[in-house]
Amino acid sequence: MPRASLPLSPAKRRFFAQILLPVAAVTAVALVLAAAALFWTVLKTDGISIDRQVRITQNAINRSVDELATQQQTIAVWDQAVAELQKEQPDWAWIDDEMGTWLHRLFGHDQVYILNARDEAVYAMKHGGVEAAGEYLLARPDLQGLVDGARQGLRAQGPGRNGFNAPDQFGRSGRFLEVLGQPAIASAMTIVPSTGAGVQRSGFEPVIVSVRFLAGPFLTELSARNLIEQPRLSRFDTALARERSFALHNDQGHIIGYFIWEPELPGTTILGVLGPVAAVVLVAILILTALLVWSLRRSIKAVEVSERHARRLALHDVLTGLANRTLFNGRLDDALAAVGRDSRVALLTLDLDRFKHVNDTLGHGAGDTLIRDFATRLSALMRPSDTLARLGGDEFAIVLAGVDSVAEIDALCEAILSAVHQPFELGGSQAFVGVSIGIAIAPQDGTDRVELIRKTDIALYRAKDEGRDCYRYFAPAMDEAVKRRSQIDEDLRAALRTGSGLVMYYQPQVAADSRRIVGLEALVRWNHPTRGFLSPEHFIPVAEETGVIVRLGEWALREVCTMSLRWPQLFLAVNVSAAQFRSSGFAERVIAIVREAGADPRRIELEVTESVLLGDQLTRDSLRTLRAAGFTIALDDFGTGHSSLGYLRQFQVDKITIDRTFVQHLGEPDDGDSAAIIVAIVTLGQALGLVVTAEGVETEDQRRFLSRSGCTEMQGYLFAHPIPEAQLAALLDDVADPAVTEPVDI
Ligand code: C2E
Ligand code: CA
Ligand code: CA
Repeated sequence: MPRASLPLSPAKRRFFAQILLPVAAVTAVALVLAAAALFWTVLKTDGISIDRQVRITQNAINRSVDELATQQQTIAVWDQAVAELQKEQPDWAWIDDEMGTWLHRLFGHDQVYILNARDEAVYAMKHGGVEAAGEYLLARPDLQGLVDGARQGLRAQGPGRNGFNAPDQFGRSGRFLEVLGQPAIASAMTIVPSTGAGVQRSGFEPVIVSVRFLAGPFLTELSARNLIEQPRLSRFDTALARERSFALHNDQGHIIGYFIWEPELPGTTILGVLGPVAAVVLVAILILTALLVWSLRRSIKAVEVSERHARRLALHDVLTGLANRTLFNGRLDDALAAVGRDSRVALLTLDLDRFKHVNDTLGHGAGDTLIRDFATRLSALMRPSDTLARLGGDEFAIVLAGVDSVAEIDALCEAILSAVHQPFELGGSQAFVGVSIGIAIAPQDGTDRVELIRKTDIALYRAKDEGRDCYRYFAPAMDEAVKRRSQIDEDLRAALRTGSGLVMYYQPQVAADSRRIVGLEALVRWNHPTRGFLSPEHFIPVAEETGVIVRLGEWALREVCTMSLRWPQLFLAVNVSAAQFRSSGFAERVIAIVREAGADPRRIELEVTESVLLGDQLTRDSLRTLRAAGFTIALDDFGTGHSSLGYLRQFQVDKITIDRTFVQHLGEPDDGDSAAIIVAIVTLGQALGLVVTAEGVETEDQRRFLSRSGCTEMQGYLFAHPIPEAQLAALLDDVADPAVTEPVDI
């Protein structure tokens, strides 16, 4: 069952797991901690403030008990009061005015009672008005303890110095208690003389009792003095949400009510101020965090893009953008893995013809443009399932997966050839190139990548060998040829190393008029250990291809030097391949070898083909250096290639050799104008002041014709076959005058 959730790409998953989640978590935790710290501070601040307000209120209440007593004391310790109360008929109006109502007026005492020695009320005041003394009976149960306390307090202190109560040693007793069912503070105090003027019987002093109820003016006062907002009292704890309360305990420790008020909450106030700021900061933090995540995401994306780019670079060719060898190998492996009985895979390798020439003449920039344009033209011919790759230089490959017929491949190859034949515009000049294509098909030619590539390469070489600008399918016979070639290469290297098997033959060259031997052409032979006696046609091309020709040529040159010393009256001709000229330091090596052998370069003739003259600047420079060093330059096989008068003048060769194909056809009915060509060559040579040699002279008729045409030297079976040195010595000795200074006449 496929999962319903959307699959996340690995990059996205990594982003979520490694960036988004941690950042979100850290931000959330930080914000929660900050909020918790803020709220904790608010609660703590509020708590401290509430505590302080509770303490202030409690202190205020406690202090009011003392104050109540102090206020009471202003009249309780008073000679005149004692005297008035001792009268038979006290002046109640005076007492009321100076004592009861006075305390109410000045200090707000709610109730004032004056009790006689038997604790009976003789005066009562409530809220500023005189009341019947009997009212006291209602409050008495609540106040009696207080009164007793006042009397006991006085007794405990004992009589004063003069047997009287000292002014500061009065009996008093203040309390916090419930009076008439309401919380109140009350104070009782014996009324005693201030100076000791009057005489009182100890234990029979009148007592003044003051009551202040907490509810009412007291609360207003408390609020104003201590900045306690909206105070109220309640029998039960009825505090609303915005209010706080604490229990009021009477002196016995019983709860007699609750003090309720609206506390000042500085923390909450600060929160009210900070709240919007904090919200703004929070939003800012969230935005910054989002920005951070966004920029991280962007830089991760940038890294991913450059990783992708790097991966692309690793698998693609920079110049053309085509698949490179690595990707090509992978695709080919994949295609080969899918090869079955019904499905075939074709592999094509392509190599541009004359690309090197474009590079050499128009420069590397033009070469790059050509490669790019070629890649574009090829790409246009590809199907989506095909892989086009550039393997390097001017080498390309195509993997055709799922090929149905050879006709399909033929069609593609024809299309490629005709696409390539359109001229390439390279910075103002037009270049014409061709392409050689080698093809191998899986499974018939193999299903292994390396094997298949090797076979397309073989087919490609065959295409090049057979004139280039064409395509060839691999055939098993090609493989044989290749194997033979590599065997020859291997054996040739061994022969050069051991110095066994290679033999130099010499073919005399004679003067046309006298038939005297004037020179010898060195022609190599190879006595192969298993294949027998091999003519150079069988191994020279292989040696040129593999490069071993360089060492073979050096060997030949040394042989020729030795011979030249032995036959100083003859010139010695040696064949030099274009491949030798392409090896670096060629001219210098030739000069060094000749010098080392002690031979005279003027007696040595280098036979080069026209392809050497067509070579690059380096080749032509070497040719000039060698000519300047004294070597004779002979242009071999003249007339078979691109021979032009221009080359002859430019390189100032010393000699031209008419190719033997022209000579062979002399006198035949269908001679293909050989006679005319020979005459033309001779005329040209004479005009340029060159020695003209004819080779392949086999008959007397040929000799006569050539001689009459103006050839100065001849070579061919008519005079002598190529022979080993031993026979040559006999031949020369036989014919020659013992004085070897004279040319030999045959
Ligand atoms: P080439 O330079 O054109 O050599 C002349 C070829 O013509 C020789 O073949 C020779 O045997 C053959 N020939 C001579 N006279 C006659 C004739 O009257 N009739 C016919 N039909 N053929 C005649 P060979 O020896 O097989 O050499 C073949 C080629 O191998 C030479 O062609 C030369 O290009 C190359 N070669 C030989 N030796 C060397 C060498 O030491 N170095 C290099 N680079 N190439 C060599
Ligand atoms: Ca030759
Ligand atoms: Ca020749």
